[in-house]
Amino acid sequence: MTRGEVDREVHEYDVVVVGGGVAGLTAACSAAEHGARVALVDRATESETGGNTRYTEAFLRMASLEETADGLEDTLVEDFMGHPDPSVVHEAAAPVERRSALYRSHHVVDPDYVAELAAEAPGTLAWMTGHGMRFDVLPTPFLTTSTTRMAPVGGGLAIVETMGKAARGLGVAFHFETTARALLTDPGDGSVVGVAASTPGGPVELRGRVVLASGGYQGNAELMARYHGERALTTRPVARGGNYNKGEGLEMALALGAATAGSFSLFHAEPVDPRSGEPEAAIFCFPHGVLVNAAGERFTDEARGPIDAWYERTTREIQAQERGVAWVVLDQQSLAVPNLRAGIRTDQPPVRGATLAELAARIGVPADALERTVAAYNAACPDPAGFDHRSPDGLATNGLVPPKSNWARPLAEGPFEAYPVMAANVFTFGGLKTTAAAEVVDRDGRPVAGLWAAGELTGLYYSNYTGSTSVLRGATFGRIAGREAARSVVGAPA
Ligand SMILES: Cc1cc2nc3c(=O)[nH]c(=O)nc-3n(C[C@H](O)[C@H](O)[C@H](O)COP(=O)(O)OP(=O)(O)OC[C@H]3O[C@@H](n4cnc5c(N)ncnc54)[C@H](O)[C@@H]3O)c2cc1C
Repeated sequence: MTRGEVDREVHEYDVVVVGGGVAGLTAACSAAEHGARVALVDRATESETGGNTRYTEAFLRMASLEETADGLEDTLVEDFMGHPDPSVVHEAAAPVERRSALYRSHHVVDPDYVAELAAEAPGTLAWMTGHGMRFDVLPTPFLTTSTTRMAPVGGGLAIVETMGKAARGLGVAFHFETTARALLTDPGDGSVVGVAASTPGGPVELRGRVVLASGGYQGNAELMARYHGERALTTRPVARGGNYNKGEGLEMALALGAATAGSFSLFHAEPVDPRSGEPEAAIFCFPHGVLVNAAGERFTDEARGPIDAWYERTTREIQAQERGVAWVVLDQQSLAVPNLRAGIRTDQPPVRGATLAELAARIGVPADALERTVAAYNAACPDPAGFDHRSPDGLATNGLVPPKSNWARPLAEGPFEAYPVMAANVFTFGGLKTTAAAEVVDRDGRPVAGLWAAGELTGLYYSNYTGSTSVLRGATFGRIAGREAARSVVGAPA
C-alpha cells in the first residue's frame, strides 16, 4: 500500500471486484485462479455482505447439473423488448466482425450472450461444486410450475459462505465497508485502471482492472423514482440485502459512456405481504382465491397459467391499484388445496372473518362491494368437476370481466381469510450492456478497456423476468468476467 497524489491510500492489485454477491465472488475466485492478485470490495460489513445473494434460495433454471431447462434461451430472447428496429436487429444473424456499432450497442437482448449463458452454466455449476457447493432439486414455493429448477443446498447464503471461503483460500483480499464511488482511468488511453472508494477511515484507491458486480439500484430511492416514477413509492427491496445495492456501479459506468440493456421502466416484481419484515414474504396462493382492491373489486385474472410464469405480471397489476396493495381472499375450500400454505411465506397471520362482511370490515374494504364481487365471481364459476390443483385445469369463469382462467371454484365456505399483497422489488431490470465475454460495451459498441461486469448490474430482462436465471447468470458471467480480467493482466495460459 502506498499514498497517492491526493494523499489517499492506494492499494495495488491486478483485478478489483466490486460487490460480494454471487457475481462478485465467482469473479474473484476465477480471477485468482487465473493468476491475478485480486481485491473484492463490498460496502457492507462482513456479517452483511452478499447483497441479494445472501437472502435468496437461488433457484436455478436447470433440468439437471449438466443441462439447462428446456426453452431457457428462447424464453430469454423472446422476452418482449418493445418494437426494436428490424434494420438494426437483423444483424444478430451476421458474423460478429460484420456487425455495426449501432447493433453492438443496441438496447436489445444479445443472443450471443444468452447462448453463452446456456453453454457455460453447467460448467460453472460443476466448477462451484469443485469449490464445495452442493446443488439439488429442492422444493419451491410454486404450486404449479412452467420449468425445471435446481438450487444450491443452503441457498444463496451457502454461495456467500462457500465461495467466500474459496476466495480467501485463493488469496483474495476482502475490503468490507468499502464503497466504490468512481472508476479511475488512464489519462493516456482512457482504460479503466481502478476504483476510488470510501471507507470509514477515509478515501482509498484500489488499482487494477475492474469487474463491477455491485447489483442493481433497488436500494436507491432517488434512482428508483427517476426510472420508475410513482411506482417507486409503493415498492421496496424484497429482502434487506437489496438495500445495499444503490446503483453506483451503473452510474460509474454510465459516466464513462457505457451502453445499457434491460428495461429501465421495470423491475422484477414479486407479490409479498407488506406487513412482514421477513425476506421474501411471498404470497403465491392467489390463483386459488380472488384478488380485490381497496374498492372491493377484482381487477385481474388471478390464474392465467402456472404461478411461476405469471406472478410477475399479476404483481404489476396489484401495484397499479390504490396505494399499490390488493387483498387475496380465500375460503375453506381454497385453503384445503394441498400444499397451499407453501405458497404463503409471510410470518404475519391472515385476517379472518366468519362472513365476507366481517372480513371486509377487518381489511377496510366496503362490505357490500366485496359481497357483490364474490357473488358475481361465484355465479360465473363452472362445474368444478375436473379441478386439478397440480396444473392449469381450464376451469375458467363464464362471462366474468376480468375472467379467471383456471381453478375457478366458488368462494363460499367461511370462515374466510385474506392477506394483503404488494409488489416487492427483487432487482432492477435496467443495467449495463455486456458482451458474451462480460466486457462492458460503450455506446459505440466497443468494449470499455479494463472494465467487465456481471450479475444484476447488467441488463437482460425487458418485460417479464425469466425466472430462476439471475443467480445462474451472475455465477456464469462472474466467472467469465474474472477470467477475462485476469487474462488481460497476466495473459492467457500458453
Ligand atoms: C429473497 C430473494 C429471492 C430471490 N430468488 C431468486 C431465485 O430463486 N433465483 C434467482 O436466480 N434469483 C433470485 N433472486 C435474485 C438474485 O438473488 C439476485 O439477482 C442475485 O443474487 C444478484 O447477485 P449479484 O451478485 O449481482 O448482486 P448481489 O448479490 O446483490 O451483490 C451485490 C453486492 O454489491 C455490494 N455493493 C453494492 N454497491 C456497492 C458499491 N458501490 N461498492 C461496493 N460494494 C457494493 C453489495 O453490498 C452486495 O454485497 C432473489 C433475490 C432475493 C432477494
